[in-house]
Amino acid sequence: MKPIIAIVGRPNVGKSTLFNRIVGYRTSIVENEPGVTRDRIYGEGEWLERKFILIDTGGIEPNSEDVLLKDIRWQAELAIEEADVILFLVDGREGLTATDREIAQMLRKSQKPVILVVNKIENYTDVEMKIFEFYELGLGDPFPISAEHGMQVGDLLDKVLTYL
Ligand code: GDP
Ligand code: MG
Repeated sequence: MKPIIAIVGRPNVGKSTLFNRIVGYRTSIVENEPGVTRDRIYGEGEWLERKFILIDTGGIEPNSEDVLLKDIRWQAELAIEEADVILFLVDGREGLTATDREIAQMLRKSQKPVILVVNKIENYTDVEMKIFEFYELGLGDPFPISAEHGMQVGDLLDKVLTYL
């Protein structure tokens, strides 16, 4: 059985961008299960010869503004149930939101390893300032990346492997 890594977070933080970047590093098998395509997308990834399944819990959302809090909660529950490691993605440009706090509360209660990932950090001069507020989520050190530019994504996968 391949280990399962799930990406969780509110809409627009960059879940699908990160998913595509990780899956695109090595393989391109994206499998949509009938009936659950709106909920989640599965892909196969590989890093340093470790194979894993990656889940984008946001699924296919043509308009991610319309995603309801109950859907996000459901996605987080799925991830907690299925995943071996959870990547909790937040948006370093927008900063911390109420929905982030809700998701964090659910994840803190789970027994699964959670990596708090702060996306959209392209400028390293102010990285400390941008990630600082996320410490209050109580999920350890925030890990800054830029999914779009591929910055720190390899380092993030190195960290993920330490939990598998
Ligand atoms: P999702 O709703 O969480 O799946 O988010 P998406 O992957 O669809 O990304 C939402 C928006 O954020 C898109 O406009 C992306 O281009 C943008 N985005 C994603 N990752 C980054 C990043 O690392 N930096 C910046 N500046 N924008 C990003
Ligand atoms: Mg998405």
